[in-house]
This record gives sequence, structure tokens and C-alpha cells, in this order.
Amino acid sequence: MDTTPRVLVVGGGLAGMETLFALRQRLGDRVDLTLVTDRDDFEFRPSTVYVPFGGAEDDLRIPVAVPAERQGITVRRGEVAWVETEPKRLALTDGCTLDYDYLVLATGAAMRPERVPGLAEHAHLVGSLEQMRELGRTLRRVRDAAVDGSPQHVLFLVPPGNAWPGPVYELAFMLETWLRRSRVRDLVCLTFATFEDRYLEALGTGLHPVIGEEFADRGIISRARAVVTGVEPNLVRFADGTAHTFDVLVSSAPHTAAVDYEGLPKDLNGFLLTEPQTRRVRCTDVVYAPGDAGDFPVKLGYLSLLQADAVADDITARIDPAAVGEPRRFDPVGMFVLEMLDEAVYARTPLALTGEPDRARDGRRVGVSPIWHLGKKTLGVYLPQQFRAGRPVHGGLHQQAVALGLQGLSTTWSDRVTE
Ligand SMILES: Cc1cc2nc3c(=O)[nH]c(=O)nc-3n(C[C@H](O)[C@H](O)[C@H](O)COP(=O)(O)OP(=O)(O)OC[C@H]3O[C@@H](n4cnc5c(N)ncnc54)[C@H](O)[C@@H]3O)c2cc1C
Repeated sequence: MDTTPRVLVVGGGLAGMETLFALRQRLGDRVDLTLVTDRDDFEFRPSTVYVPFGGAEDDLRIPVAVPAERQGITVRRGEVAWVETEPKRLALTDGCTLDYDYLVLATGAAMRPERVPGLAEHAHLVGSLEQMRELGRTLRRVRDAAVDGSPQHVLFLVPPGNAWPGPVYELAFMLETWLRRSRVRDLVCLTFATFEDRYLEALGTGLHPVIGEEFADRGIISRARAVVTGVEPNLVRFADGTAHTFDVLVSSAPHTAAVDYEGLPKDLNGFLLTEPQTRRVRCTDVVYAPGDAGDFPVKLGYLSLLQADAVADDITARIDPAAVGEPRRFDPVGMFVLEMLDEAVYARTPLALTGEPDRARDGRRVGVSPIWHLGKKTLGVYLPQQFRAGRPVHGGLHQQAVALGLQGLSTTWSDRVTE
């Protein structure tokens, strides 16, 4: 009888793939790895923001079969229907069941535009590659209309319940640069409205003045604490009684967990409750939830990777303690590069679950420079390359070199933030 431990990973996004590759790197053939995924490819979302402005799509999607074959990972195409912890079994919607020794639920978050009346009908939602492609077509129409002398109004919106508004900020700034380069900036009014108290407050308060200054310098009308209550044709209504008109509305949406796992502990939005450092699902022994599927409130890809590494090391330590000296634990240090096309904002924020953005940990850094624009582009090449080769983003000599480079850039091109 084969006694090799079976690890079943559900979800082929950043968290799921990183967990698989890190486990293979740590344990070699002492673990049996299976990926259950509802799609054939891995989509590298952080670089999809370039697509509306003509960015190439070639490397944004990697067929999961390529790294899986390299790393001896079995791929099972299907959608998870339910999981049981006793016996350790998972069922797919096609009726098949799979047994596991360790289960990693990395099914991410899903947008729920229906939670804001009219949003799904009247907004360009920001999420998938297809949505970015569609947005690109609309923005080209906006530019062409401006070239013909017709004034346009594009409104960017972050509604309450959204767990990661970063791409909406990026698209607003990138559109501003793109229109300026097309010499039609004067004919397009850009407005940005977010429910947040401060801009990108998920990463602490340090970014608010920096982003506010960028909005002002670039002539983008901006509002924080603007809580949308409904969207009508060409009009957004806010809780304070005000309303904004628009020709084009670009918006994110409220998030919930992509899969509602019956019988597992979760919060009101379906995000699985986990032990903070290991991402093990509470009240279970061998079930884990790294990335957006879990209850960490900031849904950032970089944090998903850190959580996946913690999961891989915890499982490794249980299968073969000698294979991992000191298991990595999840230390939530957020890192984000906000693209603007001509330059970018870099933010590194050690996070703590205090419930108050003002009470954060030391060690925050923020910088604005064209260098960070190049940095984001470089990461956009490096990360998909690692995954295509079946290597984890974190771990190994490659990553140590990249981390050193990033540290050097960070020291030179960003400042410490103290509040
Ligand atoms: C446009 C955009 C830009 C972003 N930019 C950045 C950035 O610059 N930096 C950054 O750090 N983060 C960024 N993020 C956030 C980042 O992409 C997410 O935090 C990250 O993808 C989360 O990874 P995950 O693996 O947890 O979830 P996901 O990437 O959502 O992966 C979940 C996977 O599970 C699969 N799945 C779902 N349901 C089922 C089911 N029932 N059965 C089987 N499989 C299922 C899905 O198909 C998917 O493959 C961005 C997000 C977007 C949308």
C-alpha cells in the first residue's frame, strides 16, 4: 500500500500554485500532490492593469499543465462542491470524490457587484483579463471621442466591502498618463471616489498624503469617505446625498469568499477562519486556507504568497520535520507597487490586526519614482516565469537575488514613514 502523504490543493491561483511548488521544493517525491482547479490556466492578475493601455497578454496566462507536468503534480479539472474532515474527503460538482491527508483550500475571493444596486449593469468591473480587455475598448472610445473634440467624464469607484482597491487606483493614474501622452487630457475629466476614510488605508495611513498629492498634481478630482448607495444610467449616488455623473464608470465590487464551505468555520462573508501564523483552518487538524479564501482582511497577492509559504512549511514540518529547519510563519508584511505608467508608488507595510489603520507596526516605507515603474514591470516578468518553471516565488537562489535587489531599491528609492 502506498503511504506517501496526499496533499490536495483546491484553486490554481497565486496561493494554490505557490503552496504546491513550495511543497515539491521542500519534500521532493515524499509527497503526493494534486491540484483541483476549475480552469486550465493560472492568471497573473497584477499585470492585467496594463491590458487596457495596450499591454501584451501573452505571459499573463500560464496553462497549469506546464508546471504541473514538470513537478509531477496531478491536475484534476473540476469544481469543489463540499468537503468533509472526517472522513478526509472532498467532492466535486461532477460527483467524484477525492481523499486527502492534507487539504489546502485556496479558492480565493469573488466580486459581488449585486450588493450595490445598479453596479453590475452600469459599471466596467475590474477583475479578470476579459474585463480589462473590454475596458481597453471603452477607453479607446473615450480617447477617440476626445480627439474629435467631445469632452468625456470617467469616474473611478471603490464601493464598501471591497477587499483590495489597488487596481482601481492604478487604472485611474494610468489613464491620466495615457491621455496626457495622447494629448487629450484636457478634454477628459477624471474623478476618483472611494468609501475608504483614507486612500489605500488597508496599507496604513502613510499612503494617504502621497496619493492625495498625486491626485492633485494630476488634476484628478478625488474623494474619500464617498459611500456609494446606488448606480443609475450615467449617475452614481452617495450616502451623503451627493451624486456624480459619468460617461464611463470603472469600479471594483464588494468581495465574499468564492466558495462557501459548509461545516467549516467562516466569517459573515464566507472567508475561512484560520490560525494567524499557519493559516490552518480553525477547529480542523489538516485543512488550510491561504490567500484570499482565508480571513486575513487585506486581499493582496503578495500576502497570499506569504500565507502559502507558511502553509507549505507547516505541512512539511508535519510530514518530515528534517526537511524544514525553521518553518516560515505568516508575518503580514504588505508590499505593493502602484503603477501610474510614468512612475509608480512603492509601499511596504508591516501590518497588524488592530482594527485601526493608525495603530500599525514600525518599518513602513513609501516611495514615488519611475524606478518603481520598472520594478513593477520586472516583477511582472519574474513571477510568471517562476510559476511556468514550477518554482515557488519565495525560496531558492533566484528569489534571494530578487529580494536583495528589492531591498536595495527600497533603501534608495523610498522613505521611512513615521506617524
Ligand atoms: C486586477 C487586479 C490587480 C491586482 N494587482 C495586484 C498587485 O499588483 N499586487 C498584489 O499583491 N495583488 C494584486 N491583486 C490581488 C491578487 O491578485 C489576489 O490577492 C491574489 O490573486 C489572490 O490569490 P489567491 O490564490 O488567494 O486567489 P485567486 O487568485 O483568486 O485564485 C483562486 C483560484 O481558485 C479557483 N477556484 C475558485 N472557485 C473554485 C472551485 N469551486 N473549485 C475549484 N477551483 C476554484 C479560481 O479559478 C482561481 O484559479 C490584484 C487583483 C486584481 C483583480
